[in-house]
Amino acid sequence: MSSLRYRSTRSAEPLVSFREALLGGLAPDGGLYVPAAIPAVPESAWREAASFPDLAFNVLHRWLAGEVDAAALRALVADAFSFPVPVVPLEGAWEGVYVLELFHGPTLSFKDFGARTMARLMGHFLQAEDTSLTILVATSGDTGSAVADGFAGQDRIQVVLLYPKGQVSPVQERQLIVERPGVQALAVEGTFDDCQRMVKAAFVDEELAVLNLSSANSINIGRLLPQMLYYLWASRSVDAPPVVCVPSGNLGNLTGGVLAVLSGLPVHRFLAAHNANDFFPKYLRGEADAFQPSVRTLSNAMDVGAPSNFERLTVLLGEAGMRDRIEGERVTDEETLDSMRRVYEESGYVACPHTAVGLEAARRYRQRCGTAHPVLVLSTAHPAKFPETVGRALGAEPALPERLSRLWHRPTRVATLPPTAEALRERLLAHAGV
Ligand SMILES: *Cc1c(COP(=O)(O)O)cnc(C)c1O
Repeated sequence: MSSLRYRSTRSAEPLVSFREALLGGLAPDGGLYVPAAIPAVPESAWREAASFPDLAFNVLHRWLAGEVDAAALRALVADAFSFPVPVVPLEGAWEGVYVLELFHGPTLSFKDFGARTMARLMGHFLQAEDTSLTILVATSGDTGSAVADGFAGQDRIQVVLLYPKGQVSPVQERQLIVERPGVQALAVEGTFDDCQRMVKAAFVDEELAVLNLSSANSINIGRLLPQMLYYLWASRSVDAPPVVCVPSGNLGNLTGGVLAVLSGLPVHRFLAAHNANDFFPKYLRGEADAFQPSVRTLSNAMDVGAPSNFERLTVLLGEAGMRDRIEGERVTDEETLDSMRRVYEESGYVACPHTAVGLEAARRYRQRCGTAHPVLVLSTAHPAKFPETVGRALGAEPALPERLSRLWHRPTRVATLPPTAEALRERLLAHAGV
């Protein structure tokens, strides 16, 4: 079988291998990698799978054939997806709404799917080539912990995390600083923007070329492929093509769903549920054509003013295709708290603030269009990651699951860094011993 090729969103040529797209991150012209052709995946690949890893293999081997052999891929997905992926039907007034819980991985958000798969695929290629690399990530939330956990202990890969000191929640900080093999956490005395600026400077710093720096944020195609899988998996739990509601920020999760549809999954419609950072809903209604500065909200993992995967959606669907298949909703913080309360009172379900944005978009859709189609809402994080907000909405904080409470018994390791590119360079070179 000849292997699938990838191109930049900004030019049809050159075509590169999956390996090159994965290890490169961004295309040399500044675009994002997209598949040059989409493999058709037959319904049996997801309907007849015996488990989530089995489904993952059936689908991904069609995308990676010729680059990752079948036995290695089987082992890789079994190791990456070692946690449950339940679909929970809601009750009462919410009958017909299904919550796809994507937060049962080690760091309790859907970012675990992408990070764990990407780490193992990178490790696979580096092993064969006898090279190593350093993943550098600026983080303010779920990506950092998923990447730290997903890449920890991978031979040949070092991870360096930068986060703004004192500006992440206690749970988030603990998830970033627990000691992990091959992972360095750096608390930067500055803002998230400082962290991002330092990372960007490091990528173009010639003195640091020896470290073979790479990134692991949602621009990487390696995160998108695994994000198709749970859409296929969840479709087995509903009896008609669903309306699929995705709490969105950078639109990476939604792009995974679009790839699933383009490879054969029947979906009635997508709902892109955004918080006050509502460029995309406005764009879909024809009311915006430029990105906006981001604003802070209670669903902070979705605080994105310039969604990076918008460029991918434009290439994959075209403008008309996007407006045809996707509807957008904007949900304010006040409405998010109301949604958490309403869903809890009416069905007993406790949702995190991001999921609550999705549930509110689903409720509005059903008011507008009726309940003929099942609605699948992606739940992107565990409510216990956001105890302050859940407490504010429901009057009681959610119980800490064991995976989280265990973190307080583990040793931590973190260094403090001034917010300058020079400080980061020194640190990286000293640590690499060059
Ligand atoms: C990252 C994240 C999102 C947004 O996902 P995108 O792929 O950036 O659209 C939503 N919810 C949670 C909890 C997240 O961590």
